[in-house]
Amino acid sequence: MAVVRATLCVLVCLASAWQSPCAEPAAGERIRLPAARDVKIDGGFWGPRLKIYQEKAIPHSWQYVAGEIRALQKAAGQPVQGDLNGTWGEANLYKFMETVAHSLGTHPDPVLQKRMDEIISLIGAAQRPDGYAHAYIVNSGKPPWDPAFLDGSHDGYVLGHMIEAAIEYHASTGKRSFLDIATRAADQAYEHFLGKNGQPGFCGHAELEMALVELYRVVPEPRYLELARAFIEWRGRNKVKPAGPTPRAYFQDGQPLREQRTLEGHAVRAVFFATGATDVAIETGDADYRLAANRFWDSTTLRRMTITGSIGPRKEHEAFGEDYELPNNGYYESCAACGLADFAQRMFMLERQAESADVLERTLYNAILHGISLDGVSSYYGNPLSDRDNPRYNSWVCCPPNLSRTLFQVGRYAYAYSDSAVYVNLYIAGSASLPLKAGEVKLNVATEYPWDGRVSVKIETDAARPIALNLRRPAWCPAAKLTINGQLVEPMPLTERGYICIQRQWKSGDTVELLMEMPVQRIEAHPNIHDCAGKVALQRGPIICGIESLDNDGRTDLELGADPAFQVAVERDLLGGVTVIRGKAANGNPFMAIPFYAMANRAKSAQEVWIKQAGITPGSEWWTGQLYRPLKLDRK
Ligand SMILES: [Zn+2]
Repeated sequence: MAVVRATLCVLVCLASAWQSPCAEPAAGERIRLPAARDVKIDGGFWGPRLKIYQEKAIPHSWQYVAGEIRALQKAAGQPVQGDLNGTWGEANLYKFMETVAHSLGTHPDPVLQKRMDEIISLIGAAQRPDGYAHAYIVNSGKPPWDPAFLDGSHDGYVLGHMIEAAIEYHASTGKRSFLDIATRAADQAYEHFLGKNGQPGFCGHAELEMALVELYRVVPEPRYLELARAFIEWRGRNKVKPAGPTPRAYFQDGQPLREQRTLEGHAVRAVFFATGATDVAIETGDADYRLAANRFWDSTTLRRMTITGSIGPRKEHEAFGEDYELPNNGYYESCAACGLADFAQRMFMLERQAESADVLERTLYNAILHGISLDGVSSYYGNPLSDRDNPRYNSWVCCPPNLSRTLFQVGRYAYAYSDSAVYVNLYIAGSASLPLKAGEVKLNVATEYPWDGRVSVKIETDAARPIALNLRRPAWCPAAKLTINGQLVEPMPLTERGYICIQRQWKSGDTVELLMEMPVQRIEAHPNIHDCAGKVALQRGPIICGIESLDNDGRTDLELGADPAFQVAVERDLLGGVTVIRGKAANGNPFMAIPFYAMANRAKSAQEVWIKQAGITPGSEWWTGQLYRPLKLDRK
């Protein structure tokens, strides 16, 4: 009997060591992101893409920052010839430098690094003795942080992007000089606003708030967090006199944070502001900021976001509209989509909900990737869902370097960790090395995602303690299976936060496989979105597809019947390698849909994401907590 009991105990003990339910994270246990150089991206969907950006987009971009470099030379007292930059131009240089810094983290390039070091020396030489560093203002003789022009100025926007570039360059190369320049400039801003003779104010284009919190994470001086918070607190309180008639909501000065229910005004400024407020919530634990972040998140993602993950439909003031105001030919600036990716990442860090990473994935694979051409050298300022014959162009007002710096961060969007947990938010072929308190965890991911729903995660380190591995279960996925070392795990260990969580003492070689069904889904939109009434969008995995006229006999106005007989095909020679959807329209004609991100990369063509669908009866089923959902034609 004793032997039987002992045997039972061994079996039970082995089972519990093998896998135990995931505990809720301990209060105060922070989420951290890996450095770009700690995530290697090899092959799959992203490897070739990042190679194109490295080999084509970076060399192509230098010509567009020449005026900014000349402005730095002039501010440094060097003789220059040729045009200088405009008020916000230096932000483009810094966004580009951040792009290069990300690239250097995983692909060292001595020539590129030398060029970066030369520009960093120039930035240092152009910096005033008090630390102020915006060369446009220095060259033009205008006052720094001009309170009479704060609503239209870009001092903080430029400084914010400088700080972010400096942080990435330090993380990628270990060199401190750029970070030292950035901290001196941040110290000047602190002295100007919160020093002995400080005056309330803020930059009309939010960005510095989130950059200061990022700086605080690297250089933990409380003054950086304090200044970020002050810029948010001063808004909406008549602290700054606008220079012109622009509505205050345009630059997020309409209401104080605690009274603001929705994101309003210029979409890029608004989403950057929301990201900064969320960053402050993460670092301070302030309940008011957390509530505000959640209000902004819900109002944006449940009522004001396209199916492709774009925001900001209005051309006037490049602004958010009312709830459900989402015209298919709207404005939808690329920078706003990039901002939404960062907001989503910060919301994940704050709330650890898979739903935040679902939005990150939606905007990344659709709106953001659509912004940049497949050859990496041209871009779209806007990303409408219905378009006609518009060529790509390369206006360097703001979007191209923002797209590249965002796309190069895909590895940082993919992973996160806390003291004893790992999160895999995006499924990307390659490897990651995560320095947990409980010991370093190395992962190797093999997958053809987003074309295929099979993901293999191999652990390459022996863990000293149990670690919770959290795999995001995407909201688009109708059914999935999980195996650990080939053994099916049932039921799926799904947490309330939307993660498949396995806690165990991992051994090198342990392999988790996630098999996600990836059918073609017809998605309907909330009936309040007028432009989508009676229509569906085609989605497979995270990829939204649409119709281009040049694949469909010059037409985009097809209508689907009850069964379009969808067929999925891998087309390796089309548009850099895509999976297309073919089917039959209601009239029997064949059609083909391609990924939204790959549209407008060939000859002139009309494009439509939302397609007419026969048999839709709107309003027959409640909409709760969703803006888009799979169509059920047979519901009563
Ligand atoms: Zn832009």
